[in-house]
Amino acid sequence: MTNESERTGGESTRRGRILVFSGPSGVGKGTLLKRLFAETDFPLVSSVSATTRAPRPGEVDGVDYRFFSRDEFLRRRETGEFLESFEVYAGGALYGTLREDVETALERGDWVVLEIDVKGAASVAAIYPDAETVFIEPPSIESLRERLKGRGSEDDAEIEKRVAQAESELAASGFYRRRVVNDDLDAAFEKIVAILSE
Ligand code: 5GP
Repeated sequence: MTNESERTGGESTRRGRILVFSGPSGVGKGTLLKRLFAETDFPLVSSVSATTRAPRPGEVDGVDYRFFSRDEFLRRRETGEFLESFEVYAGGALYGTLREDVETALERGDWVVLEIDVKGAASVAAIYPDAETVFIEPPSIESLRERLKGRGSEDDAEIEKRVAQAESELAASGFYRRRVVNDDLDAAFEKIVAILSE
């Protein structure tokens, strides 16, 4: 399950694929994607998004996100550097995918993993109709609320904002080609591997 021969074959290099993963904050998306990178041989690369939000403890610039000031983000957006960009939470931080990073990876034959919100995914799917789009769902909204509480990184008001956001993302997620319910981490992981192996 590698395209190594094409990758080393110079000019005949096969173009890669775009894999879009979305799902509400707290659904376990990060854990599933980490396992995908660690435990499979797919030629995956992750696209590092840009954001104007502050880094969380432990997050590294250029690895987790590119942390831009609002001015810099807006300047880059003005010059068309983003494939898509959105204010994920109203009045909050801006997030976006840098076009050049994605194109360079596709030309190399890599499978570019985009972990982006529903609006961003809709934009990417419109630009790249062959993109694989996967929506990861919680078993229920209540289980999502419990998971966010357990994570302990957001206060109650922020949790309720994310739960409301999750409800609207679920309502708008009909266009995804695939849906994976994360009620059991191993089962969800295997389902994603099966989707990517088809
Ligand atoms: P967080 O602040 O928790 O890291 O991410 C918040 C939300 O922003 C998540 O739903 C995540 O998928 C989304 N997000 C992260 N990067 C991007 C991006 O480049 N574009 C879009 N549209 N959403 C993103």
